Amino acid sequence: GPAPEDRGPADTWLESHKRTFGHFIDGKWSAVKGGAHFETCNPATGEVLASIAQGGDKAVGDAVRAARRAQPGWAALGGAGRARHLYALARLVQKHARILAVLETLDNGKPIRESRDIDVPLVARHFYHHAGWAQLIEDEFPAHRPLGVIGQIVPWNFPLLMLAWKIAPALAAGNTVVLKPAEYTPLTALRFAEICAEAGLPAGVVNIVTGDGRTGALLVENEAVDKIAFTGSTEVGRIIRQKTAGSGKKLSLELGGKSPFIVFDDADLDSAVEGVVDAIWFNQGQVCCAGSRLLIQEGVAARFTEKLKARMETLRVGDPLDKCTDIGAIVDARQLDGINEIVGRSVAQGARLWQPAAPCPSTGIFYPPTLLEDVTTSSIAAQEEIFGPVLAVMTFRTPEEAVALANNTRYGLAASVWSENINLALGVAPAIKAGSVWINSTNMFDAAVGFGGYRQSGFGREGGREGMAEYLRPEPIPSAPKAVRA
Ligand code: NAD
Repeated sequence: GPAPEDRGPADTWLESHKRTFGHFIDGKWSAVKGGAHFETCNPATGEVLASIAQGGDKAVGDAVRAARRAQPGWAALGGAGRARHLYALARLVQKHARILAVLETLDNGKPIRESRDIDVPLVARHFYHHAGWAQLIEDEFPAHRPLGVIGQIVPWNFPLLMLAWKIAPALAAGNTVVLKPAEYTPLTALRFAEICAEAGLPAGVVNIVTGDGRTGALLVENEAVDKIAFTGSTEVGRIIRQKTAGSGKKLSLELGGKSPFIVFDDADLDSAVEGVVDAIWFNQGQVCCAGSRLLIQEGVAARFTEKLKARMETLRVGDPLDKCTDIGAIVDARQLDGINEIVGRSVAQGARLWQPAAPCPSTGIFYPPTLLEDVTTSSIAAQEEIFGPVLAVMTFRTPEEAVALANNTRYGLAASVWSENINLALGVAPAIKAGSVWINSTNMFDAAVGFGGYRQSGFGREGGREGMAEYLRPEPIPSAPKAVRA
């Protein structure tokens, strides 16, 4: 097959920073000496990639103050002025696409094919799209104002893409930001900070503060932050909602999911098998909207699982930099422990475990594509987000039963419906309580379409008009005082 992706340019960049990073605040790197640090590792090999600053009070405070100082000038540029900067960011993401993809794969473990062909192109698309919104904002949102300073906290599964989802609309609307990447995957956010400088973005408009949940909590508690935009676990989302209650901060939460993938008797089964591969094995299943519950109509259940197992035997688990790899590394050993624990509890509850014959690499953090069959509706496998390459399989008889099963979790992020009968699919789709429902497809994202959850999957939307509205506040139009008649 093709040679593995060349990691040389990524290593050269890391070496240019002596593999030690401060925060990016007010357009400059903070000093790296003395402060608390942690290591970020390559989960496919265990190698330490870089030493990362653990942000405390001072870093978070400095970053919020820098963002506050920069905000009036950024807003005063007007939509067309901000659009020029967003276009510049989009073009530079494309220019540096290779190094961004390699850094993402090294830090996260995702296959290079995904970071190169999906993550990074969607990042560029997001900045281009929001450059368009910036240009139109005065016409499309008359009598609206930016919120001010936005605190943004993102997870490790799509580090740069989640950054783009957060930063692009915030900037288009005239806000400035302090973003905290996840502790497992800070590298692309740090490389993006340099792209901001290269694009000539005014100092303080984008600030990156690294650290773990304690750093995130400091951002949430900072009184000068006008909005918190969070993507991550439902558990942390709940804590953030409690902490911001009564603070006046605006809040949006993009949380977990347990999304159904529904296959009707009359579905194109071969296409649906490929859909399942994309739904649950994309990014090792570490996807908030992963189709992690396979609901199959009884008449095709045996035939479909047979086809699916044959396909699973062909999935290649291994070196994420290898262009032939389908399934890369799990992000961290703690995440792997979590997968093992839930799978173990599911099997103890009676689920039947099936995995393909090929072994995983013996070093690094890997987990094979996995089916849990004979899963009952209230069991752990059917209810808990596993956030790994594990698919729970259930069957149903009627469309009504499919809808009831689909809605039978505390989540509601996404769903996928497969049938060659478009009337059946279009009848079932709106009955599913989920922010996105795909028909005969899955994982279709676009910057123009609002993405977000129902129920414990969170609230607020990212992308499109709805996403822009999350970063604006309506302002009463001042009207001339009316003459008072005697
Ligand atoms: P996580 O909640 O553990 O961490 C997310 C971020 O929050 C990290 O940056 C972390 O450092 C920070 N954090 C942790 N504790 C905090 C606290 N008390 N206060 C403030 N910040 C804190 O989630 P994760 O394990 O990184 O990500 C996986 C989760 O994210 C999954 O549940 C997944 O479904 C969800 N997710 C949702 C979406 C979506 O759009 N709905 C997208 C991707 C991931």
